[in-house]
Amino acid sequence: MTKTKESVCKLCRREKQKLFLKGQRCFTDKCALERKPYSPGEKAKRRTIESEYYGQLREKQKAKRYYGLREQQFRNYYEKSVKKRGVTGETLLQMLETRLDNIVYLMGFASSRPLGKQLIGHGHVMVDGKVVDIPSFLVKESQEISINPSSADIVPVIESKESAASLTPPDWLEVDLEHLKGKVLRLPNRDEIKAPINERIIVELYSK
Ligand code: SF4
Repeated sequence: MTKTKESVCKLCRREKQKLFLKGQRCFTDKCALERKPYSPGEKAKRRTIESEYYGQLREKQKAKRYYGLREQQFRNYYEKSVKKRGVTGETLLQMLETRLDNIVYLMGFASSRPLGKQLIGHGHVMVDGKVVDIPSFLVKESQEISINPSSADIVPVIESKESAASLTPPDWLEVDLEHLKGKVLRLPNRDEIKAPINERIIVELYSK
């Protein structure tokens, strides 16, 4: 089901954390979390005693919403990260961070992750010169991401490009905003992943 603009902001208010789901608006004083920094609903304003489990659950929900995933999708990433070498939580975040929709957002070709997902789904994004319409596609080192030349003048791309002009992409990405293309130089290490997520808490939840 498609979420309304209002319900998208409720996700941030529920997690009491900006999840940056509405593009430019998230950086203005129109941000719903700035105006109402408490959870939606009257009951949420009451003081609650939060259990350890509740905290773990909220952290997982926050990560899921930040990357725009469904429950089972998120669980699948966790299962895959357990099977890989390395620290499970960090591997989990690294996989999420290298999803094509996230990279399109980080490169500034989309002003939010949901918009990145939409652009990909509509065939506006290419990987190594070929259209890839799967938002969950995991981008590998050295792969080039670009906006399909025939889509360079669509409004969402032009607006995203303008608002990204003042932003600095992370060091693991090379971005040519002018020509709407970029490259994954290497996979990100934990310090370079800016997601406001404590992955160890999520691992604790799933390890029970
Ligand atoms: Fe809404 Fe963006 Fe603010 Fe979240 S960060 S509440 S999506 S405006």
